[in-house]
Amino acid sequence: MTAQLLLRGKRGAWGALLLVGALMVWEKGWTMDMEHFKLENGLNVVVVHDGRAPVVTHSIWYNVGSMDEQEGKTGLAHMTEHLMFKGTERYPVGTMDKMVQRKGGMMNAFTSYDFTAYYQKVPVTELAPMMDIESDRMENLKLSDEVFLPERKVVAEERKLRTDSDPTDRFFEQVMRRHYQHHTYGHPIIGWGADIQNYTFGDALDWYERHYAPNNATLILAGNVTAAEVKPLVEQYYGRLKREDVPARAQPVEPLREGEIRFVRVDPQVQVVSWNRWYRTPSAFQGVAGAEVVPGEATGLWVLAEILGGGASARLYQQLVMEQQLADSASASYDVVRVGESTFDISVQPKDGVPADKISAAVAALVDELKSGGVTEAELARAKVSLKADEIYARDDPFISVYRLGMWVTAGGKLEDFNRWQDELAALTVADVNRLAQTYLTTDTSTLAVLAGHTAQLGSVAVTPEQ
Ligand SMILES: [Zn+2]
Repeated sequence: MTAQLLLRGKRGAWGALLLVGALMVWEKGWTMDMEHFKLENGLNVVVVHDGRAPVVTHSIWYNVGSMDEQEGKTGLAHMTEHLMFKGTERYPVGTMDKMVQRKGGMMNAFTSYDFTAYYQKVPVTELAPMMDIESDRMENLKLSDEVFLPERKVVAEERKLRTDSDPTDRFFEQVMRRHYQHHTYGHPIIGWGADIQNYTFGDALDWYERHYAPNNATLILAGNVTAAEVKPLVEQYYGRLKREDVPARAQPVEPLREGEIRFVRVDPQVQVVSWNRWYRTPSAFQGVAGAEVVPGEATGLWVLAEILGGGASARLYQQLVMEQQLADSASASYDVVRVGESTFDISVQPKDGVPADKISAAVAALVDELKSGGVTEAELARAKVSLKADEIYARDDPFISVYRLGMWVTAGGKLEDFNRWQDELAALTVADVNRLAQTYLTTDTSTLAVLAGHTAQLGSVAVTPEQ
């Protein structure tokens, strides 16, 4: 029923045909058909018009995620997401999903670092009952130890299955904890095992009551609807909810540090070596160590990730996989939209028999070359076209539009700025990209994380001692 997403900006490859189409749209410019209004109780409403199919995605986004959790109570955002399916007086447990199915739709939810979201995809004619369900459970969730205790077991089991029994997941949970030593991004979304065992029904109830309110949420509707059509329905169902006192969101900061962090592990369960370097970077909403955001930097880093590791024509793949034949895969990724600072990640899967120290040296040489020699005009132009193509074609799916918008607004973005990246992308120069590479691809403030199956795969890279 529930899905948990760890958002890392991976992108698919697009064919030549798509690029031609994108160039045509590029010429014309491109914006989403989007309307916005706000209810008196503070609920933000966004309507994305897409008339191609008689369906609508009805989604509600709360400005709360695992980053808002306290030490000792990690995982409460995700736990509450589970409890939201436990029913209300009017919709007892099990009846919501059955009704959505009967109406020909589907429903789900997800919890991330920055947000918690719920959605249903239904025929346009079934929008009203979805609003009834979602507005009802924003205020009237029926919680008791009777529903809480068995669900806590379900979540503990989910953690065992997903994390404790998966060597890669287990490893990256520990990498996050080391990379974010002060920022709450260091907590796993699902929560630490001991915390899950220890929190109570009262903790979950408190979380729900503090964060679930119309003035802490955005309703996003996408499909064959307009604001004029849906406004009376939104008023009818959501307008009755009361505004509540919601605590201001804490803005945790990871202080600056000196020296690289290394986390190197050997796990006999692992077959394929995973080599990773995480650089500290600003997101669109927060700079490194709480610094002010510099407009355009996030878009520039997005382009830099594309040039360095966005696909088979990018530098990492060309040099490590094709030329030097050291790796089976090599890529870079970067998340633009985060409430807090972001990371710029390089990930390499070495070829069988190539030790991790060789990868460290090859990546270091490649990054040094990039910082001293810079990127070319051709690389920049190709990256711009490719990223714009990805965005345009991704948004062919209204659900992806909803997802991007939801992330944007829950991170604190204004709707009128949602398409700002297009102007920033167009204005970006080679000098901008080079300056970003020189500023942010600094090894001595980065985290090196390597997971191998046995020590021979590490070469001279030392295993991190147990703490
Ligand atoms: Zn779950």
